Amino acid sequence: MPDYQLFTQRLELTNPWTISRGTAAFKEYTYLKWETGGHTAWGEAAHNSRYGESLESVRAGLEAGMALPLECPEDPAGAAARIFAEPGIPRSAKAALDMMLLDLEGKQRGLSARAVLGAPETVPPVTSFSIGIDDLETIRAKVLAAKDYDVLKIKLGTDYDAEIIQAVRSVSSQRLRVDANEGWKDKETALEQIGWLAGQNVELIEQPMPAGRLEEVAWLRERSPLPIFADEDVLDSADIPHLAAAYHGINIKLMKAGGPREAWRMIQLARAHGLQIMLGCMIESSCGISAAAHLSGAVDFVDLDGHLLLASDPFSGLRLEVGRVQTNERPGLGVELVGD
Ligand code: MG
Repeated sequence: MPDYQLFTQRLELTNPWTISRGTAAFKEYTYLKWETGGHTAWGEAAHNSRYGESLESVRAGLEAGMALPLECPEDPAGAAARIFAEPGIPRSAKAALDMMLLDLEGKQRGLSARAVLGAPETVPPVTSFSIGIDDLETIRAKVLAAKDYDVLKIKLGTDYDAEIIQAVRSVSSQRLRVDANEGWKDKETALEQIGWLAGQNVELIEQPMPAGRLEEVAWLRERSPLPIFADEDVLDSADIPHLAAAYHGINIKLMKAGGPREAWRMIQLARAHGLQIMLGCMIESSCGISAAAHLSGAVDFVDLDGHLLLASDPFSGLRLEVGRVQTNERPGLGVELVGD
């Protein structure tokens, strides 16, 4: 019997989650628990079908990836580097393995995940809170329920985008960020939308166009009154050099990058290319969000609200302090499975 466990957990959402690509009533993800050398380490794989991942492919990737640390449990960083270089493992499975190995390394060395990585202790920016696509009455109710957040991220890319923003503005003057999730299909439409949004106290636009259309985004960037951030267009650090001419900034997520170590490399590379940095997430429990939050003192914009969209969070360890998602100072990720 291997001394690690994989288990599937269903995460219920407070509200059904709709973006331009579709709707989800709940999420079901794979979790990794490894007990070794007197330590218990955790990982979460929030797989995403947008990137060709499924529960089955992620589970197979986790099993394949675990072969490496099992050979050498005393060298988690070495195992993490080898796993990251494996081409056949889905990115969210790599992310789960990497965060689990970071959790383990922190516990072995008595250091927080942030300290293991060498990321700054700076107080992080406040997180935005996401408002998914919905009917206008529900959007107004969700915005009212989110009045304690300084900044909201509004999902657009519908045929009623202006009505959504007007519904938000009818009940709120909060700062907004807009995520079109690839929903505007031509650059002229995108420019028209952004021009209007610039008058609505919107501070940035995320992924206006379908991924892979960098020439059109570069055209947009020259004309856009608001900064434009890549999300679906950026996975890991290999993408960054050729994005720098098209975008003002990038949204880094552990589940796309393949884990916190790669996310930290991306932050440093993005800085070298003069890009602004948002640290984002999928809908995730406090396990995955904690792994990201250890890096949040190093970025310009934080969008770590995945756990805040859940009806109940299977992990504990994070706190929300005046709109900031804060980790604790325990070794590793600082998370525990509730009731474990
Ligand atoms: Mg996005």
